[in-house]
Amino acid sequence: VVKKPGTQIATDYVNRVFEAVKKRDPYEYEFHQAVKEIFDSLIPVLAKHPKYIEHNILERMVEPERIITFRVPWVDDNGKAHVNRGYRVQFNSAIGPYKGGLRFHPSVNASIIKFLGFEQILKNSLTGLPIGGGKGGSDFDPKGKSEGEIMRFTQSFMTELCKYIGPDIDVPAGDIGVGAREIGYMFGQYKKIRGGYEAGVLTGKGLGFGGSLARTEATGYGTVYFVHEMLKDKGLSFKNSTVVVSGSGNVSIYAIDKATQLGAKVVACSDSNGYIYDENGLNLETIKQIKEVDRKRISEYIKEHPHAEYFEGCSGIWSIPCDIALPCATQNEIDQTSAKILIANGVKAIGEGANMPCTLDAIDAFLASETLFGPGKAVNAGGVAVSALEMTQNSMRLSWTFGEVDTKLHEIMINIYQSSMKAAEDYGHPGNLVVGANIAGFVKVADAMIAQGVI
Ligand code: GLU
Repeated sequence: VVKKPGTQIATDYVNRVFEAVKKRDPYEYEFHQAVKEIFDSLIPVLAKHPKYIEHNILERMVEPERIITFRVPWVDDNGKAHVNRGYRVQFNSAIGPYKGGLRFHPSVNASIIKFLGFEQILKNSLTGLPIGGGKGGSDFDPKGKSEGEIMRFTQSFMTELCKYIGPDIDVPAGDIGVGAREIGYMFGQYKKIRGGYEAGVLTGKGLGFGGSLARTEATGYGTVYFVHEMLKDKGLSFKNSTVVVSGSGNVSIYAIDKATQLGAKVVACSDSNGYIYDENGLNLETIKQIKEVDRKRISEYIKEHPHAEYFEGCSGIWSIPCDIALPCATQNEIDQTSAKILIANGVKAIGEGANMPCTLDAIDAFLASETLFGPGKAVNAGGVAVSALEMTQNSMRLSWTFGEVDTKLHEIMINIYQSSMKAAEDYGHPGNLVVGANIAGFVKVADAMIAQGVI
């Protein structure tokens, strides 16, 4: 294929900036992966609008406005002192205050936080709400820690982080390992140090102190709302379909909930040790009890439901034949091998409930087949969208009903689907939601950066 001159210039520009990114931070593999996926899909928009290259937007956007790294000391139940590393990447504030979750997981490092933060810029833009991109967390492992240890660690984390955040500056929320309990402790610590009631400084708060109804459900429900739109366009639906969902956290639980409400049979979910398969369809009450109340492993499920099966290891879950696969656990959980198995087993749609759960070659495999593919920054944007609605409610000092928030969430997900499909069509890749979501998210941020000058 002979490339048009604009396309060649755009491709050269993208490659040059990507090489510079790799040279500057050679070992940040997850960050490179996210940058590569986004950059490649922006070529059509850079080719059509030379202003983005003239203003060197990619090189400016890929460098975080600020990265804060800090020591988090804490004392365990035996009186022993430990240290973890805390991070906050304030990536882009062109369209609003930095917004994005905090992840507590031993795998957390600068690369992981930067990939998540970079994704967050475009995801937040896609929601149509005024929020910039940020992300943070720590390599602290909450697994096996007592209530007291979790509280002391979380307070220590906020003792440092509170210097850099605020309702109009940077608004963290949860992510893997950070849920309502941790947000509650962080809010308490922020309030104690800062001395004022700034409800909008964190989202995902408890309902009694500024939290929004439907925030807990938002990412999972939003994931299913988005995939529902993808299916509908092809005359398909969740009704009577077989669904596999990985993970068993907040995103998975409410994806299972909504998919089941829409008539699907969800047969499997997982945690970091293994997965359960229940051919009758998963019992959500049991999963909620195990994960949300008892905070135990998913293998407990078969004690309540002896006909179900438990398997060690995570990748095996993708060998279960299904119509719809919703990877809702973590990054790179579906590689090309798993993708090919899913395709061979006749999967019709993939919806990324997690951030970057598919490797680049897995995505290529899905796009090359007939499989519908919904990328995480579009599919899972419902969580941060309702976070932004929580900020709105905090500013207005009122709270909306569950139905009001859920209706707004549903509209936002439909809008994200439609604007991504339109961008894909407008830039010559009809139906390709990877290209569409990246372009639709990018344009708004890039135009705001140009309008605000070189800062
Ligand atoms: N951690 C979620 C995400 O990946 C939610 C972030 C938020 O609510 O700020 O988008």
